[in-house]
Amino acid sequence: MPSPLLALFIALAPSTAEPPPVRYEVTFPNVVHHEAEISVTLADLPPGPVEFRMSRSSPGRYALHEFAKNVHDVSAVDGAGRALEVTRPNPYQWDVAGHDGTVTLSYTLFADRADGTYSQLDPTHAHMNMPATFMWARGHDNRAIEVRFEPPPGSGWKAATQLFPTDDPWTFTAPGLQYFLDSPTELSDFDLREWRIAGPRVDSRAGSARDSPAGPGDSLTVRLAIHHLGTEAEVDAYAEWAQAIVEEQIAVYGEPPAWDVGSYTFIADYLPWASGDGMEHRNSTILTSSSSLATNARGLVGTVSHEFFHTWNVERIRPKTLEPFDFERANMSRELWFAEGFTSYYTPLILVRAGITTPEDYARGLSGGLDVVINSPAREFFGPAGMSMQAPFVDAATAVDPNNRTNTFISYYTYGSVIGLGLDLTLRSRFDRTLDGFMRHLWEAHGESEIPYVVEDIERELGAFTGDAGFAADFFDRFVRGSELPDYEALLANAGLLLRPLAPEAAFLGLIRLEPVDGGMLVVSPTRIGEPLYEAGVDVDHVIRSIGGMRLTSDADWQAIKDAHAPGDEVEIVFDARGRQVTGRVRFADDPQLEVVPYEDAGRELTPEMRALRDSWLGSRR
Ligand SMILES: [Zn+2]
Repeated sequence: MPSPLLALFIALAPSTAEPPPVRYEVTFPNVVHHEAEISVTLADLPPGPVEFRMSRSSPGRYALHEFAKNVHDVSAVDGAGRALEVTRPNPYQWDVAGHDGTVTLSYTLFADRADGTYSQLDPTHAHMNMPATFMWARGHDNRAIEVRFEPPPGSGWKAATQLFPTDDPWTFTAPGLQYFLDSPTELSDFDLREWRIAGPRVDSRAGSARDSPAGPGDSLTVRLAIHHLGTEAEVDAYAEWAQAIVEEQIAVYGEPPAWDVGSYTFIADYLPWASGDGMEHRNSTILTSSSSLATNARGLVGTVSHEFFHTWNVERIRPKTLEPFDFERANMSRELWFAEGFTSYYTPLILVRAGITTPEDYARGLSGGLDVVINSPAREFFGPAGMSMQAPFVDAATAVDPNNRTNTFISYYTYGSVIGLGLDLTLRSRFDRTLDGFMRHLWEAHGESEIPYVVEDIERELGAFTGDAGFAADFFDRFVRGSELPDYEALLANAGLLLRPLAPEAAFLGLIRLEPVDGGMLVVSPTRIGEPLYEAGVDVDHVIRSIGGMRLTSDADWQAIKDAHAPGDEVEIVFDARGRQVTGRVRFADDPQLEVVPYEDAGRELTPEMRALRDSWLGSRR
């Protein structure tokens, strides 16, 4: 189908000024050894060197990933096929000078990791994350792009992508580099399910900054492409869940986005040789796992919920710090507590509304996040905005040296989801409004029109939504810029949920992992600020010999020591600290771990008001 958007694109631009598209050719002669041969051609170039780059970052991933490391055998020719010299001024760049206005650069790519960041090439598939795959020429971002794949003969591959189709099934286009690099492409013999949904509301495109073939009243297509080793029946059941998730999320925002290609594509690889991940894009998402629908559908479907929510929150309600995405360096954002965290708040909430999990599972599932955020010492150093800014060091980042994250970091996914919970329950109990309503408000203020936001925009819109700018300022000062927390015990009580200690009266020394070694237990995880062992000077790598005169050589000893003491007891501790034998004092504390329990399971009365709030919060909105 010829793309209406491309036609529009060409019609809008004066044809004389429009440079020819950047053309990519991709073949797979050595796919069994995870290689592709890729060439990129630019014509109508001004004189001077062309700077070809491999990306160092990828949309939705916040740490640096040096994709240049998997490229070799780079060469270049001009329009007449004459060889051109290629120089390499830095690790990520190949410069080509002396051309005749046309350059074709060719290289071999090695790729063998199927997830949201990397590519994997083997006879079963070409799973391509574009920044990990394609070199691009600096300064030509606005040129249209055409890419042609030549699958291995007899492979049985098809294509799943948000790239624009053409009359040739293997040629796709993108209106520019930003869109191209945001369009992961899976070539494989996948199973496909697709269904139609109603398009955006009639007035939804009034202020749209981007043109879309999905106009008022049109319907849209949702596609689920799954590359897997299971059965058709498993795919059918999973597609039913996906459909319920899509409907529940559209009910939150009131309409789907006007997807640029008129469709949204879930691209899933559930294969033993894939790595677990999920990655959002404008009109598609990558879902990967080494597990299968047969054994883990319930575990996998959370990623469907999370990534689809991003088609509104992140892809269109978009942090200014990520727009446009910079492929040459790490992109730092203060807004990930909202972009990722509020999306994470909705991930399980949508599953319960869609009937995939139970309200009780949902309620108990809140325990982990609340426990982490309430008890972490890291809030002393950073609030949600500050945690967001650490993403370049934690989001699939790799390093060989130890870090102090146990004491200085809380995931902005977890932290943001807990702030989302606090805001939702506050809106419900204090304003008779909901976070659903506020997300829809933000969609109308920033999403439909794609006006990127900063933290202060959300604060202002919260004031407008509640009619109480003072409340919004206070909420943001204390809970977003600061690191105080809402009163979760009181807020959850409104829904008949009890936040209480997991192990009341238990004596506590620290949340650590221990391993038996000769004559003691080795501390294998960092100790946390404020916990008894940390305050006693115990750190990772130390070996604890005895506590309160009781020898410590096994997990059973560790439990016996805690059982024999009460919070407040102060006793002797003997440990080895990197060759130093230390005899000190340690004071048992109350176990700070928390859990959330429905009132009815805790022997408390669930009032009709609590029941009503819970039902409107966790019930289906379809
Ligand atoms: Zn996410």
